[in-house]
Amino acid sequence: MPDPVIDVVVAHLELESRIGGYEAMQQQSEQCDGFYQSFARLLNCTPAEVAYVENATRAWDMAFYSIPFAAGDRIITAKSEYVSNYLAFLQMQERRGVAIDVVPDDESGQVSLPALESMLREETQLIALTHVPTNSGLVNPAAEVGRIARENGILYLLDACQSAGQMPLDVQSIGCDMLSTTGRKFLRGPRGTGVLYVKQSLIERLQPPFIDLKSATWTDRDHYQWRSDAKRFENWERYVAGQLGLARAVDYALEQRLDCIWARVQMLATYLRDQLNSLPGVATRDRGKQLCGIVTFTKDNESVDSIYQRLRNQGINTDVCRAGNAQLDMVERRLSAVVRASVHYFNTEQEVDRFCTVLCS
Ligand SMILES: *Cc1c(COP(=O)(O)O)cnc(C)c1O
Repeated sequence: MPDPVIDVVVAHLELESRIGGYEAMQQQSEQCDGFYQSFARLLNCTPAEVAYVENATRAWDMAFYSIPFAAGDRIITAKSEYVSNYLAFLQMQERRGVAIDVVPDDESGQVSLPALESMLREETQLIALTHVPTNSGLVNPAAEVGRIARENGILYLLDACQSAGQMPLDVQSIGCDMLSTTGRKFLRGPRGTGVLYVKQSLIERLQPPFIDLKSATWTDRDHYQWRSDAKRFENWERYVAGQLGLARAVDYALEQRLDCIWARVQMLATYLRDQLNSLPGVATRDRGKQLCGIVTFTKDNESVDSIYQRLRNQGINTDVCRAGNAQLDMVERRLSAVVRASVHYFNTEQEVDRFCTVLCS
């Protein structure tokens, strides 16, 4: 998190402790409303199309479980779909008898657009795509998938967890109906925060799986009414300091400009990939026409866990992605695990150089 974000979070926690939780929320109500404006600017939508949720997984769930699937319906997804999303498909298969169609990758490694088009059926209810997977640097062609979804009138749910904050995102040009993202990754916001975008024309057609006094009104003893904006996907109790911090993080990213962030991320990631590929025994594992700031690699004769630990001992944070969480992708590529290094705009070429020196020492 950048300092201005931490300052906002800490200041709100202190305000809560000083004057009380309800009172602090009341005092900051304008800033809380600003959250929706900030995301509207980030995603190019209206504030009424934005919901604040506990994390990206729940944001995605609120959208997915609102869709009234029936037996025989089909869900189309790609090889890089996020593990938790795919678990939800499997559960929906078990519960309602939906079918899951997994689109193969094209030769570059991104979702194959011709295959996607050819796999659409009358029964296809949903196209679910992960924009940037957790376990590789691939950027899927989200807008091209959006064009196919629109032409065929099929709901399109985009998981933008790893793309928000590292590249410009515009829900109008992507053409998605729903988009979920998290605060804690490239947006540099607090943990335990997530966001859901739902297109206005769709909101009133979706019944969230849960209801509470925020998402609906108890109009009389036997009746209730859902909200007509995206707050019908929210619930009342929330991490207010996180909401304010995330709003600040979005403003901060907008101040840096997403196009500038994206250019620098790509420059640093390319610099890192080129260096890694020139090191003996090291191979980067990212596939796709367009690559982003996530860089994955393996090294001959050294386990990913050993690499992770050695880097960690030198104050360098990476992560290990294992095939168990990417069954469709890594199992097929015969990768049991990869090391994931992520660059952001605040990293430097000197840090990349040092990374490679430590890796090979
Ligand atoms: C991290 C991640 C998620 C989950 O985000 P949370 O905010 O931790 O729930 C979902 N999808 C993808 C692609 C991710 O990388």
